Amino acid sequence: MSKVMIIGAGGVGRVVTHKCAQHPEVFSEILLASRTHSKCEAIVADVRRASQHPALHTAAVDAEDVPQLVALIRKFRPRLIIHVALPYQDLTIMEACLQTGVHYLDTANYEPKDEAKFEYSWQWAYHDRFRRAGLTAILGCGFDPGVTGVFTAHAAKHHFDEMHYLDIVDCNGGDHGKAFATNFNPEINIREITQKGRYYENGEWVETEPFAIRQRLHYPNIGARDSYLLYHEELESLVKNFPTLRRARFWMTFGEEYLTHLRVIQNIGMAGIEPVSFRGQEIVPLEFLKAVLPDPGSLGENYSGETSIGCRIRGLADGAEKTYYIWNNCSHQAAFDETGAQGVSYTTGVPAMTGAMLLLTGMWSGAGVFNVESFDPDPFLAKLNEYGLPWQEEVGADLELP
Ligand code: NDP
Repeated sequence: MSKVMIIGAGGVGRVVTHKCAQHPEVFSEILLASRTHSKCEAIVADVRRASQHPALHTAAVDAEDVPQLVALIRKFRPRLIIHVALPYQDLTIMEACLQTGVHYLDTANYEPKDEAKFEYSWQWAYHDRFRRAGLTAILGCGFDPGVTGVFTAHAAKHHFDEMHYLDIVDCNGGDHGKAFATNFNPEINIREITQKGRYYENGEWVETEPFAIRQRLHYPNIGARDSYLLYHEELESLVKNFPTLRRARFWMTFGEEYLTHLRVIQNIGMAGIEPVSFRGQEIVPLEFLKAVLPDPGSLGENYSGETSIGCRIRGLADGAEKTYYIWNNCSHQAAFDETGAQGVSYTTGVPAMTGAMLLLTGMWSGAGVFNVESFDPDPFLAKLNEYGLPWQEEVGADLELP
């Protein structure tokens, strides 16, 4: 039985709070803390209606302020922080964990606010400090990154002697009925997808123009969708942790309508992260855009369709070439009915809770900073089936990607 502190009262924080509250035998006391206290209270009020959890608390905190975090942690004394606020706060929260002796878990790697760039180096640099403190930091424990890393570890453990080609395929086959909306924090999402594409091949990173490479792929229970090559953060850790990989790529589906909106947003400067002066005030266009776009947390109610995210892998098993596809499909409506959040928040929040549970029950352990694929995939995948994200696999699949 452990106390856990969840930081971030957005769509993902809502799911994590719901799912942790379903397991009081592990998460005996839960504190949801975020910048806006009323959002924590609203989520906890919903969770109280849905669960019998006896000890749910809320607090306001600025997660970019280490002394504030340290004071709150010392008051509540959690064993673990599940960080599902924004990637900008990764380092301050890790710092506060080190100062107070608390384990750490997040779902997105650090990126500085003033530069649309994300990489693990900043967080990996904390490895020795976490190791010396005997603490565990689990990085990227959402779906992608997160489950995709565990899927890859499962493939390496149970299906291949050597993995050579990895394609992570991410399809949102859902329809929320809005002209344009992002499925998670718009600022983080738009920064991610408007970057140059990048993939790994033969020991090198190959850069492409944004959305320059497109492939039509078939997704289980959804059908064919245009899928675009993007850079995604788990590629960095996966090629490091599975050095037999000759190529690793990431694909995400986008509809024409979405891409047209995105082009307009970029062309008129609304995706900019440099402050501009407006009526005597400095504003960042992308932050302003976030304020006028639909809140991703509000998309759930009329969201139909499913997400489908998985790994397509080719390599060697028993001296012969083998292909393998492992994936999960998640229904937006089922996610909403259970937690009041849409599928993208759900597919992020369930793995975060699952990783937290494994850490707190000692099934995942180790002192230092780790990506999810460093741990045993078996208990994680067993729990994923149980907790709402059942996965499927196909050996000998047509991977569609040469
Ligand atoms: P939201 O924007 O809905 O929620 C973020 C929350 O963090 C908000 O409640 C916000 O507060 C809070 N917050 C922001 N800044 C601070 C701060 N300085 N101190 C305290 N709280 C703060 O985002 P999502 O829930 O959609 O996403 C959460 C995280 O999950 C993001 O990091 C995202 O990148 C990650 N993610 C990971 C995925 C994966 O598969 N690995 C997929 C999807 C998301 P306020 O309400 O006051 O603005």
